[in-house]
Amino acid sequence: MEKFDLIVIGGGPAGYAAAMRAIDFGRSVCLIEKKRVGGAGVYNGALSSKTLWELSQRVRNVNETIYSFGREPFEPSWQEIKKTLDEAVFERKFQYSCHIKLLQTESMNQSFHYERGHGTLLNKNEVEIDHDGFKKTIWGENIILATGSSPRKLPNMNVDEDVILTSDGIDDIKDFPESIVIVGAGVIGCEYATIFANFGRTKVYLIDRQDRILPFEDEDISTMVAGNLEKRGVTIHHEAQLERLENIGGKVEYELSYPDGSRETIQVEKALLSVGRTPNIKGLGIENAGVEMSKRGVHIGDNDTQTNIPNIYAVGDLSGRIALVNMGEIEARHAVERIFGEVKKPISYDNVCTIMFLNPEVAAVGVNEKECIEQNIPVKVVKIDYSVIARAIAMRKTQGFFKIIVTNDDEMKILGMRAVGEHASTAIQAVALLIQMNEGIEVLAELVHPHPSIVEGIQECVRMLLNKSIFKSSVFKDKLACYSLVDGVKTPLERL
Ligand SMILES: Cc1cc2nc3c(=O)[nH]c(=O)nc-3n(C[C@H](O)[C@H](O)[C@H](O)COP(=O)(O)OP(=O)(O)OC[C@H]3O[C@@H](n4cnc5c(N)ncnc54)[C@H](O)[C@@H]3O)c2cc1C
Repeated sequence: MEKFDLIVIGGGPAGYAAAMRAIDFGRSVCLIEKKRVGGAGVYNGALSSKTLWELSQRVRNVNETIYSFGREPFEPSWQEIKKTLDEAVFERKFQYSCHIKLLQTESMNQSFHYERGHGTLLNKNEVEIDHDGFKKTIWGENIILATGSSPRKLPNMNVDEDVILTSDGIDDIKDFPESIVIVGAGVIGCEYATIFANFGRTKVYLIDRQDRILPFEDEDISTMVAGNLEKRGVTIHHEAQLERLENIGGKVEYELSYPDGSRETIQVEKALLSVGRTPNIKGLGIENAGVEMSKRGVHIGDNDTQTNIPNIYAVGDLSGRIALVNMGEIEARHAVERIFGEVKKPISYDNVCTIMFLNPEVAAVGVNEKECIEQNIPVKVVKIDYSVIARAIAMRKTQGFFKIIVTNDDEMKILGMRAVGEHASTAIQAVALLIQMNEGIEVLAELVHPHPSIVEGIQECVRMLLNKSIFKSSVFKDKLACYSLVDGVKTPLERL
């Protein structure tokens, strides 16, 4: 029987990162993937949806410009869009294939081994690999489970990935649907609503159980995103309870009820379920190894990434913590470092940088105002509108804002930031670093920023906190704001 220092089951972003980190330690590692290396990081997930989003943003941008010149809209066909989507996915797939192949050549480090097939734990050290009926068993001193997650389905709803779809089937539609209902106004649901609204070929309905979309974010963010969706013709059913959704003769019919007792029934061409994800446990054999489950996913207890069986670790979406590529990779690398390296501090899930690919894009790190109110954290908040940032004016993209939250004392340590607008995702990193380093804001106020750049807005924010901004908030009251937030009460701060 082949023996390895580490067996990794699942070749998505988390599993792949784990295997690569094990190579750094010169340990023998076997990576098992049953379908496609890259997992939801590439296919029907992060890369594919972001390719669609990027294309849709470009189409919307071009059309907004074209309309203002009185020209006909640019309407690429779904086949053209799909071709570009396939090219992006293929490019990433090709990189993985070459990387795996070359890593296994004789001239390279021989510690890496790749197996195609379904991995099942037989006990705490042995894994059976089933490749189209050909089975073999390998032995691992340590095992990392990284089998990811799949779209959650709803009871009494027949998902056929043709009429009623999940994110697993949406990339394979044959044409732009005339209409689509998206069930679930969380991040992924809102991203697909944005994509279809941007292309402008599909009437989009979005079912939102709450009174506003993205309820975990501050109201100014959800208001702006919802307003933009509605401007592009999206109907958002707020506070709606989905009573029924079925495929009737190849079309979707759904029925909603509302708190006031009213009901409505609507017919559309397709439905997209976006109601969360469930961990891929089926056929993994965790019971054979004695790995315990928790409600969130595989039980990892307090011993970060380690399961109740000491040589078995669980990372990525399977662990049921934060379902993001970056966090899956971090968990995976951390688990390997715990196994082969020095014991480190536990993983911190604070201050994770996130992006929501909406219109406009929304990037976040640390706390928002809502959390400060809920957790009674006294803070100062500074906010600047994109319309006073030179680069945004040059781009003709002045919708958006930066909001920075700092401690309510003289030190003014940054606790969180929200960036909403063009280039938001690239603007967040410097602030995340400052939070991580526990640095004050002066360093950012004095740093020479490139000009014209969107990040100059962040600099103007911190200068405002220090009462030395270029534009004065006492003059541009609607564009620059600085206030304290204590016990849920906003009090404007005296600024020039
Ligand atoms: C539509 C969508 C958009 C997203 N957008 C973003 C984004 O913008 N940014 C971001 O950070 N994240 C995004 N995510 C989340 C991100 O894709 C996941 O968090 C990430 O892919 C999780 O990585 P993973 O390795 O844990 O699992 P997965 O990517 O699910 O990979 C698990 C792999 O394990 C394999 N596998 C399963 N069981 C077995 C078995 N028994 N034996 C062998 N192999 C097995 C599967 O085939 C799969 O390849 C998005 C997800 C979706 C669905």
